[in-house]
Amino acid sequence: MNYKGILNLHSRFKIPFTFNHMHLKDITYPLLILLSVFYTLTGFSQPGSRNIAAAETDVTYQEMHVEIDPAINRVDGEITYFFSSRIDHLSRFVLDYADGLSVNYIKRGNSDLTYTHADNLITIDLGKDLHMDEKDTILISFSSVNALKQEMHAGVPVISTDLDLATLWYPGKKDLIDKIDSVDLYITTPLGQRVASNGVLVNVTEGNARLFHHWKHRYPIATTYLLNLAITNYTEVKDSVLLSDGTTMPILYYLYPESVASLTPVVSVTPDVLQFFESRFGPYPFSKEKFGYAQYTFGGALEVQTMPFMGFFNLDVIAHEMAHQWFGDMVTFGSWSDIWLSEGMAEYLSGLATEALKPTDWNGVKLSKINSITSMPGGSVFVKDTNDLSVIFDSRLTYNKGFYLAHMLRWIVGDSLFFEGCRQYLNDPKLRHGFARTADFQHHMEEVSGKDLNEFFSDWLYGEGFPSYTLTWNQVQDSVIVWVDQTQSDPSVSFFEMPIQVQAFRFGIVADTVFNNTYNHQRFSMYVRNINVSQLIFDPNKWILSNFNKIIKGTVAVGDVPNEDPIVIYPNPASQFIEIANASSIDEVEIAGITGIYKQQEVKDGKVDIRELLPGYYIIRLRDRDHDKVSIRSLIIQH
Ligand SMILES: [Zn+2]
Repeated sequence: MNYKGILNLHSRFKIPFTFNHMHLKDITYPLLILLSVFYTLTGFSQPGSRNIAAAETDVTYQEMHVEIDPAINRVDGEITYFFSSRIDHLSRFVLDYADGLSVNYIKRGNSDLTYTHADNLITIDLGKDLHMDEKDTILISFSSVNALKQEMHAGVPVISTDLDLATLWYPGKKDLIDKIDSVDLYITTPLGQRVASNGVLVNVTEGNARLFHHWKHRYPIATTYLLNLAITNYTEVKDSVLLSDGTTMPILYYLYPESVASLTPVVSVTPDVLQFFESRFGPYPFSKEKFGYAQYTFGGALEVQTMPFMGFFNLDVIAHEMAHQWFGDMVTFGSWSDIWLSEGMAEYLSGLATEALKPTDWNGVKLSKINSITSMPGGSVFVKDTNDLSVIFDSRLTYNKGFYLAHMLRWIVGDSLFFEGCRQYLNDPKLRHGFARTADFQHHMEEVSGKDLNEFFSDWLYGEGFPSYTLTWNQVQDSVIVWVDQTQSDPSVSFFEMPIQVQAFRFGIVADTVFNNTYNHQRFSMYVRNINVSQLIFDPNKWILSNFNKIIKGTVAVGDVPNEDPIVIYPNPASQFIEIANASSIDEVEIAGITGIYKQQEVKDGKVDIRELLPGYYIIRLRDRDHDKVSIRSLIIQH
């Protein structure tokens, strides 16, 4: 899924609201209720007893019949579940289904089964004890009102299941424990409608002034959020891709008729990106079926298995949602704590697509990630509080720092071993079409590289913050001597052990070396012949997540990489004054330390006196009253 969706979802509504510690402002009541149900259902706060119940059964096949008219937010449906028991004496079958939606009846054959429906769960009394591995089949008839997302495009309704709603609209087994092995979806709609969904469209038939669509999917699928449908008057645009196994696979785009002309050129990059991902990460995981995108109006995007739903299209989001087919869909995170295995990796693969297809943009992508991550001093990739939606989908940490975790791992183990480790992880029979934890990913990276990565994951996954480097250098005859110092933005990591790339420059690169930096004030030297080096360059390819670095020759500092935003504060770190570039447009400057309490500061001739402030990490807020614009910068103060 794409966090932009969640953010857009929240910003579209203007009723300020705070829910527990979710801090979801600007959200409507009904939406909030649906979100909180999703939150309960999908394991954000899944109670232990819920997971115990989920582990009791193994659903092998799900046959769904639903009738939906996009103009009316109502689903009438029947689902047949084929499942087996994973325990002896199984007497119940537990499914997730939102309170307030209706169950008409539940049957085995012609016999009614009794059930309770509370706490967003249906607990079905099987009326007998199943022994281990015993199979059973039950049918549930249900009706869901206002459980789908309904919007308009060009005056035409579009209805879809979506991240926050996908779990609600039918009774299903939605956990991170059990994937459904195979699904058939039969959808009845009014004439003129097309249904976008998972797998292969077997046929569309007409009868009784209605259309009958049959989608089948023969790969395991986490129904938590990957099984979805969207319905409107789509235009089907067909393409194809030559796969690495020599076969040709269909690609389908379901676009709004009014968008076909503008979007067809944008999505035409899809086969190239798919072939590129195959070359790095192995065969497309659902190659016997299809890949494609369905447009929908919701502002984000969702990695629906074999057919992501897209609120907007560009190379980044096309590649991100496609990347999820490997990372997230085929191998799904086994805990919300490990969601970076899906979102961080998808974000990184999207970056790799830029590196391969638009290489001139690649450095800018890395710089924007660094600026996002280092805009605050703390925060880990590993989600420590899975009760907090805003932490799980934190773009700065789950997406961007997850991206950099993968990028640094590639730097440490090297290009070919990194991709080999990824392929080995994706091919592991225990994980393939199943669930994985970070330990599984680490294990495969260690196996291919022969490196112990405990320290790396401890610093970069569980630990918080990032390093700031100071390189102090001097030339002594034919060598440059470099002292490497490092400070950390958060006390949870005492030292980031990293190989660092350093280049010596004089009208060109004189020497290019990687130092293995394992302790503070470490001394290195590099041979530069007799060339009088004018500049030292640190980490030119941005392999390391770091910021506020300094390179010092004697007492002369060479500045940071300039920020693209014209509002720049410098120096940083600073000790006595900071200067603000373009200070004339700034009306107010406030500085907050770790307490988070902002104090207004006086600006004189573009300068702010900081001698009174203790050394440490600060956030600066700069306000431009004319344009009602607030800029946030971070600052390190050293005395
Ligand atoms: Zn995503």
